This record gives sequence, C-alpha cells and structure tokens, in this order.
Amino acid sequence: FDMFVLAFVERFFRPSYKKDDFVLGKKLGEGSFGVVYRVSLANKPSSKEGDLVLKKATEYGAVEIWMNERVRRACASSCADFVYGFLESSSKKSAAEYWLIWRFEGDATLADLVQSREFPYNVETLILGEVQDLPKGLERENRIIQTIIRQILFALDGLHSTGIVHRDIKPQNIIFSEESRTFKIIDLGAATDLRVGINYIPKEFLLDPRYAAPEQYIMSTQTPSAPSVPVATALSPVLWQLNLPDRFDIYSAGLIFLQMAFPGLRSDNSLIQFNRQLKRCDYDIVAWRKSLETRCSPELRRGFEMLDLDGGIGWELLKSMVRYKARQRLSAKAALAHPYFDKEGLMTLSFMQ
Ligand code: ADP
Ligand code: MG
Repeated sequence: FDMFVLAFVERFFRPSYKKDDFVLGKKLGEGSFGVVYRVSLANKPSSKEGDLVLKKATEYGAVEIWMNERVRRACASSCADFVYGFLESSSKKSAAEYWLIWRFEGDATLADLVQSREFPYNVETLILGEVQDLPKGLERENRIIQTIIRQILFALDGLHSTGIVHRDIKPQNIIFSEESRTFKIIDLGAATDLRVGINYIPKEFLLDPRYAAPEQYIMSTQTPSAPSVPVATALSPVLWQLNLPDRFDIYSAGLIFLQMAFPGLRSDNSLIQFNRQLKRCDYDIVAWRKSLETRCSPELRRGFEMLDLDGGIGWELLKSMVRYKARQRLSAKAALAHPYFDKEGLMTLSFMQ
C-alpha cells in the first residue's frame, strides 16, 4: 500500500507534460506499436537537437508506461531514464495514443555498434572515453565483450529482481548511455510484470523470433490468468519459482553474446540460419559446435578461440545461457557470479597505460 501512496506523491510533485510542450525532431524508429522521435521542450529552445525521446504508442503504451514507472522506482539504472507518460487524447483520431518521454541516452544502440567493422573497439572507446593505444587481439576483444555482456546481465538482474521479464532483449533494444557510459535496456513494450500480474498473458506475436527462446509460453499455460489491475498477489513469487520466466531473457542475452563473439552471426540472415542449425541439433550448442568442426571457417574458428581463452570459461558461460530448458539456464545473478567475470573487464585496460 505504501508503495502506491509513494507513487502518487511522486507523480504529484513531478513535472507533468502535455502534447504542446514538445517540439518534434528526427524520427528514430518506427515499429508496429509506435513511432519514436527525438524531441525537445518547447520552452527550452536551447536544446537544439532535443535531449528527450518521445514514443507515440498504441494501446500497448499503457503497459509500457506502467513498466517504466516501476523501473524508475525499483531499478532505475537498468533502463533508459523515463521522464513521463500520458494518454494523448486531444487529437481527432479515434484510437487512443499514449505518449512516453525518456531522456535521450545517446545515438548508438548495441545493434549499431555491433554492425560496425570497428566492433568491439568502438565500444571500448565509448566506455573509456579515449582511444586505446594497445595492440589489438583476441585477449583485448574478449575483455571488451565481457564488459558489455556484464552490463547487459547487470541491467537484466535489476529487472528480474523487480519481477519484470523484458521478453524482447536484442541489440536494437540496448542503448549506450553516453552519460553513464554503460549499456541500458530500452523498449519495455513487450515486458511483463509477473509479481503484479501486468501484461500477464504473453503476447507471443510481440516476440522477435530471432532472439526468442524456444519455449512458446513463458509461463505454463496451466497457470491461471492474473488480474489485469496492479494488485499484488502472494501467489506470484511461487509461480515465478515454478516457471522461471526470467530465463527467457537469458537465452536472448546468450544469443547477443554469441553474435559478439562471431562476426559471421551478426546479420539477421545468419542469425536465422544459426537458429535453424541449432534447432536441428535439438538446441544442443555443443552438438552445433561439433557439427561445424570439419567445415569451420577461419572466422568461426577465431570466435571459438576467444571463447576458449582461460580454459574455455567464456564458452562455458555461453553454454549455460543458450540451453533448451529454461531451468538449466543461469539466472542473471548467477551468470554475473560466473568465473568468466573473475578477470577484470575494461577498467584494467585503462590502468595498464
Ligand atoms: P520500438 O517499439 O520502435 O522498437 P524503441 O523503444 O525500441 O521502440 O525505440 C526505437 C529506437 O529509438 C531505438 O532503437 C533507439 O534507436 C531509439 N531510442 C529509444 N529510446 C531511446 C533513448 N532513451 N535514448 C536514445 N535513443 C532512444
Ligand atoms: Mg525496440
């Protein structure tokens, strides 16, 4: 109960905005459920390009506002800074339109960065804020990728500890925050908050098949549907333990890890092809690796070489994320404690100079 009073008080004292307060800038993205623009405040013309981001969303915007409000109170550093969300009803359009406002975190998503030929060195420069004058090589690339995957897992741990499963973890939904110099998660449009029953019934059509775990339903189809209003139920943590819905995100994060290690798997087509191969191997990634051994390209070989560093600790982590059975995948918290992360990440590199 206290939490709702607190939420009300916070809401009351925070600035509230309406449609006319914003000047629309460049379009940043357009999905089936909304359009995203860079915007600035009308009364603050100093911010030329706009230091805010606006998503005009369809009816799913209501859930996304709820998720963002909750994240801001419970695990703010996991996601892009949410400013405000409201129902925009002044237009003549018949369909409801929700407006969501965030702080503009930066120009690059992980998808943009991974597609660059400079990857992962472009990320090293962003995180450290300087170009490293060190020899390039597997060891260094491994440390950069380790730092990225640790930041993703850290953000996921925050969401999962709050009871939120994102369900659309992919490089396009991970933004590099220039201010904090870390990766943050965006796009809670498909997220589900299982502790309070928001968006409880999975909308499978929202899921991106390229990064989706093999389980079709995140919660067992046997579980009763929860109320669609934010009423906490004592049952939910039990259901969480039974179904481990958070492991869906871990599988997606594992695929991102894989794409970072193997340049040849970074395009959409090659990822789709990988998914097909893995399915043919009954989702056994060790069998997938074996199936490649005779016809392994030098590029793939280099990826395996990187994962095999330090006694194969990276490969070990990847194996425990990309598994068919959700129960056998590590949680975000357990993954963060994996020995792959024992060696220091990027900070060490800057101290070495
Ligand atoms: P969609 O539903 O269209 O996928 P997203 O929330 O993923 O909506 O946003 C679309 C794009 O807008 C992102 O891929 C990113 O490039 C950009 N974007 C979204 N939020 C932010 C933010 N807070 N800061 C900077 N860019 C953002
Ligand atoms: Mg998105």
